[in-house]
Amino acid sequence: MRILGIESSCDETGVALVDASGTATPRLLGHSLHSQIEMHQAYGGVVPELASRDHIRRVLPLTDAVLAQAGLSLKDVDAVAHTRGPGLAGALLVGSGVACALGFALGRPVLGVHHLEGHLLSPFLSADPPEFPFVALLVSGGHTQLMRVDGVGRYELLGETIDDAAGEAFDKSAKLLGLGYPGGPALARLAQEGGDEVFRFPRPLLHSGDLDFSFAGLKTAVLTQVKRLAQAHPDGPATTHLADPLSHQQRADVAASAQAAIVDVLVKKSLSAIDATGLKRLVVAGGVGANTRLREQLGAACRQRGVRVHYPELHLCTDNGAMIALAAGMRWQAGLGHAKSADQPYAFDVKPRWSLAELSGR
Ligand code: ATP
Ligand code: MG
Ligand code: FE
Repeated sequence: MRILGIESSCDETGVALVDASGTATPRLLGHSLHSQIEMHQAYGGVVPELASRDHIRRVLPLTDAVLAQAGLSLKDVDAVAHTRGPGLAGALLVGSGVACALGFALGRPVLGVHHLEGHLLSPFLSADPPEFPFVALLVSGGHTQLMRVDGVGRYELLGETIDDAAGEAFDKSAKLLGLGYPGGPALARLAQEGGDEVFRFPRPLLHSGDLDFSFAGLKTAVLTQVKRLAQAHPDGPATTHLADPLSHQQRADVAASAQAAIVDVLVKKSLSAIDATGLKRLVVAGGVGANTRLREQLGAACRQRGVRVHYPELHLCTDNGAMIALAAGMRWQAGLGHAKSADQPYAFDVKPRWSLAELSGR
């Protein structure tokens, strides 16, 4: 069973092909990715209309590239999967439309995949794949959730952010420091040169007793701190960017302290989720899972408790087609194939807002 997967929920066009034969974890036969980050950078964030148009331009050439990598052609594809949601409606429509058109032309089934299920299962493509059940910390640009995962399609939400996502907290703090978009990786780099405790930023809900998160306050705290440092500078207030008067060291200290606050909360809440469930495995997925400090701190804390931590391969932390093809393959193998009605097998609808808990096999 060879499944072609297409991801187009936001600003990455990803296409991949997996072999989901038998019951073994699906194997990646090829994948390719185009990131639109450069295109959106000038605007400081993703421009939905530009994203959709670029997906249209990229998706077929990427599909050709993937098939060439695998040494196969379209007629060798047994099913086509696409991200059905959540994400930007117009962007999702591109991948979904192309997947359904391919399925129709080839006479093959089409599978709509939940984007977060892709992130969640992506560590199964790594050299050290997890086993069910596990606690999942999903930390991406749009989501921050803790889940109990008992199997494919068996997801229980334990807690989530009540406002900004962890990735958003990284990106917004980075923007206040003039680091461009998306600033998460840049902020993490700058943080290496700064002190984690130079500024004491808030760690909201740390002792709330539940597994929810809140990151909106951090942005305000970073803004206040940057303003304070800028005003205290002998050369006076900012010229073009608020953070301009800050020295490199001051910026690095703000970055390191902000990162420390975010990571602190993520680690403590993950440990609480492990204690609450009694599980001994933790899976970390989503773009923020690429963060080195998070990996170090989680690694140390989990080793102490005899908990194993699994990550996707670094290049599969952020959006990609491989995780969509993989999730489709694992669902197919679990008998959760596709829910399209027999009389309208190629009708498609996207779900820009879609909770992962809705997917649960119950
Ligand atoms: P969602 O999956 O919720 O729809 P998304 O697809 O935009 O959101 P991802 O692609 O999983 O999110 O991750 C992107 C986010 O990860 C961005 O916010 C980015 O800043 C952040 N990120 C990536 N690398 C790092 C890093 N090394 N440190 C911190 N944050 C990072
Ligand atoms: Mg992205
Ligand atoms: Fe994502």
